[in-house]
Amino acid sequence: MSDYLVRGMSLDGFVKVVAIRSTEMVSRAAQIHGTTPNATAALGRALTAASMMGNMQKVENGSMTLQIRGGGPIGTITVVSDPVGNVRGVVTEPRVPLVEKYPGKLDVGATVGTDGTITVIRDLQMKEPYIGSTELVSGEIGDDVTAYFAQSEQTPTACALGVLVDRDLSVKVAGGYLVQLLPGAPDEVIDALEQGIQRAGAVTKMLDDGLTPEDILGQVMGALGVVFMETTEVSYKCYCSRDRVTKALISLGKDELTEIMNDGKPFTVDCQFCDTVYSFTPEDIRGILEKV
Ligand code: ZN
Repeated sequence: MSDYLVRGMSLDGFVKVVAIRSTEMVSRAAQIHGTTPNATAALGRALTAASMMGNMQKVENGSMTLQIRGGGPIGTITVVSDPVGNVRGVVTEPRVPLVEKYPGKLDVGATVGTDGTITVIRDLQMKEPYIGSTELVSGEIGDDVTAYFAQSEQTPTACALGVLVDRDLSVKVAGGYLVQLLPGAPDEVIDALEQGIQRAGAVTKMLDDGLTPEDILGQVMGALGVVFMETTEVSYKCYCSRDRVTKALISLGKDELTEIMNDGKPFTVDCQFCDTVYSFTPEDIRGILEKV
């Protein structure tokens, strides 16, 4: 089954909702980066959040970058979403040690750390990108996204994310939801939503029980109801190309390129987001030098 996300509204129109099944994209990220379980969970949660946030942004040709830096062993997590919700991501240290809260429960907060910030960079296809940043609250990422929206974008939000890593280190399930209150939402709606979130419980458990993104939103929204407006297939997707790498090489300048060419060996460039390797022969480099 491919990953997909669903967007909708509460029946009264006061709550904007989105939920996602992200098992495949998180599996792909784990495969590309060779992550250990804690890094799989941390990167996976960030990718899951970014996909929903990128999809909600809805700016043609725009993008949304989420960067989490908490001082923990994983270093910096960087994830990028296109306007559809297709994502790519990278972490500084993919092979972090196993840390559990209790046997079988990964401690993502300890891996990410809490001494740092969550930063959102929105490329809205305007002159300057919008950049917002807040302090991390728990390093668990869901809480941090929630705090980011409340503090930096003044939008009351609840974000829950889950990645379940199996005994064989594969990704069993991944997904999440994000609900936002629109201005003017009455107290009864806020109360009902808080109760729904409590009642629904952990995302990982719901996903593991076989609930779909639609089911999860049904649980969370309860009596508020939900009208589904759009279903979108999403995946791990990198936009690198030989052309882009060539442009990056040109930007190195004549001196450095001449040095690379004179080395006389094939020159390889690894994409940081995917497992594509671009190889350039000294002849290729000569061709690029002619364009500088
Ligand atoms: Zn790539």
